Amino acid sequence: MIDVKTAFLLWVIQAGTLAILLLAIWLHGRDQRHFLWFGIGFAAHATGLGLVGARGNIPDFVSIHVANITSLFAFSAWITAISALDRRRAPFAAWLPPLIWIVGNLLPQVRETFALRVSTYNLAAAIGFLSLAVLITKASFSSRRYRIMLSAIWATQAMSSLTFGIFVIFRQPKGFQDNILGLWMGTVALVGFITAIVILAKMLMDRSEERLQALVRTDPLTGVLNRRGFSEAYQRIHDEAPSPALALLIFDLDHFKQVNDEHGHQAGDQVLLEFSALCRSLLPQRAAFGRTGGEEFAAVLAISEPRDAALFAETVRMALAEKPISTELKPLSITTSIGIAVSPLAGAKLEQLMSDADSALYVSKSQGRNRTSVKAGARIVTVPTARLETGVAVDEQVDRQVAILKRIAAVATSLDS
Ligand code: GH3
Ligand code: MG
Ligand code: MG
Repeated sequence: MIDVKTAFLLWVIQAGTLAILLLAIWLHGRDQRHFLWFGIGFAAHATGLGLVGARGNIPDFVSIHVANITSLFAFSAWITAISALDRRRAPFAAWLPPLIWIVGNLLPQVRETFALRVSTYNLAAAIGFLSLAVLITKASFSSRRYRIMLSAIWATQAMSSLTFGIFVIFRQPKGFQDNILGLWMGTVALVGFITAIVILAKMLMDRSEERLQALVRTDPLTGVLNRRGFSEAYQRIHDEAPSPALALLIFDLDHFKQVNDEHGHQAGDQVLLEFSALCRSLLPQRAAFGRTGGEEFAAVLAISEPRDAALFAETVRMALAEKPISTELKPLSITTSIGIAVSPLAGAKLEQLMSDADSALYVSKSQGRNRTSVKAGARIVTVPTARLETGVAVDEQVDRQVAILKRIAAVATSLDS
């Protein structure tokens, strides 16, 4: 059997190694703050335990108070790490473990009695484990199964610490040499520590995989779906659509080459970014939007009738035409031409819809750009533009929608054919 000091040393090395590993991972991707906090947590855990293990060789104040506060601060860091993973701020409970130690030790009886100090430490640790258990059950990352497993482990450790904390008050050990329940506590801590790390590692790996998968589906410039991501989103909307039809819209920015030539590629990029943001803000909930080419974007939405798609397209088109896009040099007036294809849900195929929407887009371009055309059956209908409307103020949005609907209604019979 190894002695207590060797056990402490092994534990310190294990936690220290983990801390270095996690901090090194964080240095490679600093936006992933949970690695930083997990690393700080394990570093604090290792330091605290190391100082406790050095009892007798270092001043008592360091090996008692600095050691326990550091070791309990590990909970604060781990709670912050889990919150960061869940994209939340750490709750106040994160600071309770070290606070409980500090407040408890303001009382002379606690400060001067080994048993009461052990009890205070275990009460603080129990609160730490309990906070971790609650936090992980409420979290939204990873799978529910792993979160429940972790929560069960931390809840068990909380119970174990609490029971031990109460037990020592009755047994009144005088020091570490009165090794009461050392084996029990050691086993719970070791099994808990290792299983929690294995599950957490699996969760973090799954998360990295998800990030990579998301990256593969995202256009790096605008942050919207790329062609691949859009195809997959199309399939999902197709499979889950509650309505009888689908519409596919292609947006192609007008004279975009000229924007680049006259104002520079950077201004062009800014326009692409702002246009994506505009579309996303106007898109209905059950819809997908992506960048399918250089200055070409597509949206798919579930619709009840073709005029739903035309209304959305016209809303985007007019919002863009009216509000110049701000770039570093100067605001630019940009317009888009839109092609729409509609298909009953049954039998809708992305390839066919793309090709039909492209034909409609071609008509919009040839009619003078900055307009919307819909391929309905064998015909392509262009929504009439109304010069009058461009003077309508933004706070008259209701009138705007009515005006757009009127224009669409003028061609509605052709659309519904
Ligand atoms: P049209 O009205 O007929 O659509 O004319 P256009 O100039 O928009 O069309 P064209 O296809 O001739 O030009 C598209 C331009 O888009 C050419 C290319 O340099 C530019 N482009 C493609 N991808 C990017 C990008 O990522 N950033 C920038 N700034 N420009 C891009
Ligand atoms: Mg183009
Ligand atoms: Mg273009």
